[in-house]
Amino acid sequence: MTDDQTATSFDAHRCPNGHVSYPGHTRCPDCGEKQTETVDLADRTATVVTWTTSNATPPGVREPNHLAIVEFAVDGEAVRALGQLTTAEGVDIGDEVEPVYTEELREPGAGIREPDSQEWDGYRFEPV
Ligand SMILES: [Zn+2]
Repeated sequence: MTDDQTATSFDAHRCPNGHVSYPGHTRCPDCGEKQTETVDLADRTATVVTWTTSNATPPGVREPNHLAIVEFAVDGEAVRALGQLTTAEGVDIGDEVEPVYTEELREPGAGIREPDSQEWDGYRFEPV
């Protein structure tokens, strides 16, 4: 692991009209403008919109696979992200979670033809 902060940011993208999306797009999904700014969500908390435990887990995905849609509030914009929960213990819709950096969200050796082509790190959501 390096000290490179860009490797650990959790970036949503913003267009000149203030719309924020995660992940970023070439053009804003709301208005079609180019997204010109990033907003790091890593230090913010989000609210669980819904979650489930997937039992049909693709190769290499860490189990148990608790998937959540969470919503960040960024300057009045609601920004939703999909990711794994660190635990499903006691998690309920409306609960607050925070992003937790994880070096290997998936197992690099598991059935991926070009392991070097993938990014393995990312964030899980942990109940606050
Ligand atoms: Zn826009």
